[in-house]
Amino acid sequence: MKKWLSLLFVVAGMLVLSSGMAHAAKAETPTPKLILDGMELEPQVPPFLLNSTVMVPVRIATENLGYKVDYDNSKKQVTVSNGKKKLVMTVDKPTAYLDGTPMQMTKPPLIKSNFTLIPLRFLGESLGVQVFWDNQIKSVFMYSPSTPDPGSESGGKPTDPSDGGLIGVVDPSEGSGGSGEETSPGTVVPPAVTGNLNEIYYDPGTESVVLKYDGLIVPRDFKLDNPKRIVIDVPNGRYAPEFVPAVDFSLTNEGYIPVEGHEALRSIRYSMFGTDTKAPRFVLDLNQAWDYELSNDPGAGTLTIALKRPPEDKSLYTVVLDAGHGGTDPGAISISKKAEKDFNLAVVLKVKAILEGEERIKLILTREDDTYPTLTDRYTLANSVQADIFVSVHANSHTSPNTNGTETYYTREDSKAFAQLMHSLFAPATGLKDNGFRKHSVNLAVTTKTTMPAILLEAGYLSSSIDEPKLWTEELQNRVAQAIATGIKMQLNLQ
Ligand SMILES: [Zn+2]
Repeated sequence: MKKWLSLLFVVAGMLVLSSGMAHAAKAETPTPKLILDGMELEPQVPPFLLNSTVMVPVRIATENLGYKVDYDNSKKQVTVSNGKKKLVMTVDKPTAYLDGTPMQMTKPPLIKSNFTLIPLRFLGESLGVQVFWDNQIKSVFMYSPSTPDPGSESGGKPTDPSDGGLIGVVDPSEGSGGSGEETSPGTVVPPAVTGNLNEIYYDPGTESVVLKYDGLIVPRDFKLDNPKRIVIDVPNGRYAPEFVPAVDFSLTNEGYIPVEGHEALRSIRYSMFGTDTKAPRFVLDLNQAWDYELSNDPGAGTLTIALKRPPEDKSLYTVVLDAGHGGTDPGAISISKKAEKDFNLAVVLKVKAILEGEERIKLILTREDDTYPTLTDRYTLANSVQADIFVSVHANSHTSPNTNGTETYYTREDSKAFAQLMHSLFAPATGLKDNGFRKHSVNLAVTTKTTMPAILLEAGYLSSSIDEPKLWTEELQNRVAQAIATGIKMQLNLQ
């Protein structure tokens, strides 16, 4: 009960903050609270804010999410595993490996009072935990993945993972209910109602279903097939008496809102669901598979389920490939007095040769010879042909001869996943030091003003005696070109 008192305190704190006392809380930096599936966690080392990154002890993965954590003191290596997933991180190193695939962390793991702390968001992304940061109440809301995932084929009832028939219709053969969540070991059933649900409606402007509420709710969401639907459970919410659209659950099992004018969403149903503990459940009925994005804003009391069109299976993709610099602009001059523009063009022409036979890729180069299109020319070209992706190839330079290695840059969030994917192929292909992929500190024109996922590759440093001789070899250039071609195809789901 103690934890629930803390949780209520959070709610009370939220109400206080929203009534105009936010400045009082701003004076000090409060310790962020961690709330997992509605329960406040009390880790041995409190989480803290490192610049704007919430760092949390990696142990919460073991104690609260069922993972095993091993620490190898000699290698300063932390391994988080559960038999299915294995995440390996090294103290002070920003690259982690999830099942062998490199992933970049915004901040490397660090040791504090003998505990390893890692960025919370990274923990969430790598272990499939949904993480929401509520800046107003300095709290982190985490929702553990549904176990077992009722939408997946491994759920035990692949043919009809029922949504439970909604309220009142409890099939005893379903045991703990279709989602299986309520009684899974280790899953907390919130014992208290902390949120009042006021209204649900479909907003055609944003193609979203919006649930308005007061207080605090911890939704659980998942997808079901046959027929396709999105299910949102609100275990610690209750329908307010004035809920809109009104439904009298003593007379009917569920409320029903028909939806017209959306390609996929047919209706919204809402009910009470569960065996021992009944709780509000919302079901979005779809006539075709669509993705969705759930966002919870406790400050505004709004839970939004934004419907997302699944990626199109296009027959022809346009790729713009940009050899940096050219003509009057040599780019960096290498320690052996060679010009970066020549390296860039050589690599780009090799990528072109590799992708020549790809029927589903229309490849457009910003330059094919030693000319200088302006930066405006380059992004204008990409935008005007409505390119699907944009890749700019460069080599780097630094005043310090000791700086070396490979980097991949992006600017806009929509390019991050592409940067990560490309970097995972590109960096090993160079064989040079892996400096990771990241958001560029400068708003580079080609990655900022383009309107499609756009990345800029820096193969290595022409100012480094380690990198420079290798950058001019056919071997390195061929490997890099192959990696870029593969990265492009993978990004377009062509490989
Ligand atoms: Zn350059």
